[in-house]
Amino acid sequence: MKRNIGIIGAGLGGLSAAIHLRVAGHEVTIHEANPEVGGRASRIVDQGFQFDTGPSLLNYPWVFEELFAAAGRNFRDYVELLPVDPSVRFLWPDGTHFHLSSDMRALLAECERLAPGSRPGMTAFFADAAAKYRLSFDKLVTRNEDNPLRWIAALTPSEILRTGIWRSLDQELRRFFPSRYIREAFGSYGMYLGGSPYELPGVFSILPYGELAYGLWLPKGGVYGLVQGMERLARELGVLIRTSSKVRRIVRDRDRVVGLEMVDGRTIPYELVVSNVDTPTTDRDLLKRAIKTPKMTPGVLTFYWGVRGQVDGLGHHTIFLPSDYKTAFEDLCNRKRIPADLPFYVAVPSATDPDLAPRGDSAVFVLVPTPVLSDMPGLDWPSTVREIRGKVLERIGLQDSRIAVEHVWTPEDWRDRFGLHDGSAFGAAHTLTQIGPLRARNYSRHVQGLYYVGAGTTPGTGMPMVVLGGRMVAERIASREP
Ligand SMILES: Cc1cc2nc3c(=O)[nH]c(=O)nc-3n(C[C@H](O)[C@H](O)[C@H](O)COP(=O)(O)OP(=O)(O)OC[C@H]3O[C@@H](n4cnc5c(N)ncnc54)[C@H](O)[C@@H]3O)c2cc1C
Repeated sequence: MKRNIGIIGAGLGGLSAAIHLRVAGHEVTIHEANPEVGGRASRIVDQGFQFDTGPSLLNYPWVFEELFAAAGRNFRDYVELLPVDPSVRFLWPDGTHFHLSSDMRALLAECERLAPGSRPGMTAFFADAAAKYRLSFDKLVTRNEDNPLRWIAALTPSEILRTGIWRSLDQELRRFFPSRYIREAFGSYGMYLGGSPYELPGVFSILPYGELAYGLWLPKGGVYGLVQGMERLARELGVLIRTSSKVRRIVRDRDRVVGLEMVDGRTIPYELVVSNVDTPTTDRDLLKRAIKTPKMTPGVLTFYWGVRGQVDGLGHHTIFLPSDYKTAFEDLCNRKRIPADLPFYVAVPSATDPDLAPRGDSAVFVLVPTPVLSDMPGLDWPSTVREIRGKVLERIGLQDSRIAVEHVWTPEDWRDRFGLHDGSAFGAAHTLTQIGPLRARNYSRHVQGLYYVGAGTTPGTGMPMVVLGGRMVAERIASREP
């Protein structure tokens, strides 16, 4: 049956859900609090510089191709993808560097340069992670299954063994790489999943594999070029997108959703509601329910610098790892403080798309992970920002005087701009007890007709995941709302 559906939030998950639901024939309206769509993947435009606020790299292009194909369109007619290859470069304070590439020959040569004898380990890692990747995506990641036993039973016993789900990511990497540097590089992905590589499940070795196998890309016009492509598709299909349209409350009649109350006091009737707002924020602020907070991913302190001239030595994406990697993770994840020996990354998207900066200049983005806000009560942000800024400039060798344009967002800004619970940048963590059917479900168990999409619910965080989540919530609605 065709329904009148209200979606709260035009992040990538909200846009994806809108596209799938519209394709299924529903009437769909999105209410976005901010003046532009995109959520965490928004943009800042200032004096000829354009900065993506969050993501700086696109992976798994097949996910976006499938989204557009579901609407009978060709992704490449809407979004041009520029390759970023060689892609991510890792740098250590002792001068060691490691540069990834999707070109297997170049990658193996780079492994040999960094750690002679590591070529067979990398080849074996690739074969192992490829099998895990296929099992995960074919049988687990995108299934709307609430029962953990039925979820895992989709795998045969030998397939379960293959996933490495009971080993830590670090243990998994140790099977292939004696080199501490390769392990630290691949294990650092854990930072965005909300745990250290010593705690997160080994199945996440599919992350570095997925980037190497499917490449890393920058949409033309920055990641915002992808957002604009998805917005255009949604509008063409007839999705109504209302920006500067903030929802105050999800309106219920007993235990059933009946509409949305806006901040201007109007109530708009909807038969079904999909919330793209961070899942704990939806429950606490829009439903006024007491919540049990999940373990969250870290917050981030982000700098957006318009720099005069080129930035020497930095390509599109450089990850600066600390000398004492384990302590940095322990500080961040367990001792709940910003590591003194700072891990951070720098993206220069204008190195890939020069139109993102005035001619000859550079748009520079810096991301420093931090604990979530409740773990740092009373922190003096202005002095913390000054201190971290100085450390970053020194380590990347950039003179302050070259910064012509600057924006800085603390975890408080991220919370206030997009409703991110506790200032966590990537949503609920992906620990063993918060993945698959154990993650917050994409429908409400308390309020009929209420659904969720985005980084806080299934399948998880990152642009491809929330876009897949849009399809999953549409399938969920099809099965629960006959
Ligand atoms: C700094 C950073 C770097 C990242 N880098 C990458 C990367 O390189 N690659 C990658 O794949 N992923 C990356 N990610 C992750 C990716 O950006 C997110 O997982 C994804 O964009 C989240 O989408 P979402 O669907 O959860 O929606 P969100 O982006 O959370 O959007 C939710 C929307 O709801 C709106 N909203 C909130 N409250 C209300 C209300 N009351 N009424 C109306 N609207 C409301 C918000 O304004 C927002 O637009 C990064 C994230 C961050 C923060």
